[in-house]
Amino acid sequence: MTHSFLRDMPTALACAAAVLTSFSAAAQDYPLPGKTISFVLPYAPGGPTDKAARDLAQAMSKALGGQSIVVDNAPGASGSIGVAKLAKASNDGYVLLFTHIAQATLPSFFRNLPYNVEKDFEYLGLVSENPMNVIGRPTLPANTLPELVSWINANKGKISIGNAGPGSASHLCGMLFQTTLKVDMTSIPYKGTAPAMTDLIGGQIDLMCDQTTTTIAQIEGKRVKSFAVTTPARLSSPALKDTPTLQEAGFKDFSVTIWQGLYAPKGTPAAVLKKLNDALKAAVKDPEFVRKQEAGGASVITDNRVEAGGHKAFVLSEMAKWAPVIKSAGVYAD
Ligand code: ASP
Repeated sequence: MTHSFLRDMPTALACAAAVLTSFSAAAQDYPLPGKTISFVLPYAPGGPTDKAARDLAQAMSKALGGQSIVVDNAPGASGSIGVAKLAKASNDGYVLLFTHIAQATLPSFFRNLPYNVEKDFEYLGLVSENPMNVIGRPTLPANTLPELVSWINANKGKISIGNAGPGSASHLCGMLFQTTLKVDMTSIPYKGTAPAMTDLIGGQIDLMCDQTTTTIAQIEGKRVKSFAVTTPARLSSPALKDTPTLQEAGFKDFSVTIWQGLYAPKGTPAAVLKKLNDALKAAVKDPEFVRKQEAGGASVITDNRVEAGGHKAFVLSEMAKWAPVIKSAGVYAD
């Protein structure tokens, strides 16, 4: 046995060397013209995360000389299905993940996640930050936040709130809203907030908390009512400037901001990661990308979180920040 192992060793070493050479040659040639890069997007098409991913795909495609980048929606189980898909994808730089704060909150909600946030990903950089907006169906009797609070208190046990599943941005925001008010609402999970928005507009659900990047158009079209924003200061967008902050309405310390970032599977070659990170940094400075994010009330990130180290440190700090808040709410998913 030992003898044949030693006899085969030179061949094995030669094979390993050939694999390594072709691997690093592939990394140098990355991205191959004509080969498509896909962003796995763990929520339904048409929602805020999907919208931000499509804007980023366009800006990064420009930075990579016209490389084709598509968004691959893989929704379900609060987004964990899409994240797990990326964790198992081939690490050649052609399959990436675009997701938001759920990267840090899902581990506290789910007892068994099929991936490890700390170990299974390469961190490519954060892209943008986004306020949330408490909105209601157009037929809701309340028009202001104090009226909404009175209506909620008068209808305890009968109120429904839509979200993208436990641990999603909308769920986190809605959960904090309920714990602050000390009211339990019926949580209605969807595969993303785009289908939840359709039901809110149609009056099938009462409330939702969603990113301003998709609420603004609905408020302008008078299809939903806007009650509050989750930032410490009011927003300047014409559709939201008259909407109070939750803090100003007495919801002490209420502040939720949703961040979004890009990831690659663990073990993606360093040369590929560098090219992707360079393209990401060019994208966050692209005037068209910046304009689109700001029009939706979001801000583009340009600090050290656009680098792998800063991105990963921030995600881990967010995991630590939200874990006790989520645990004390006692909401779990399997
Ligand atoms: N806004 C969603 C969330 O609540 C996800 C989505 O973009 O559909 O997490």
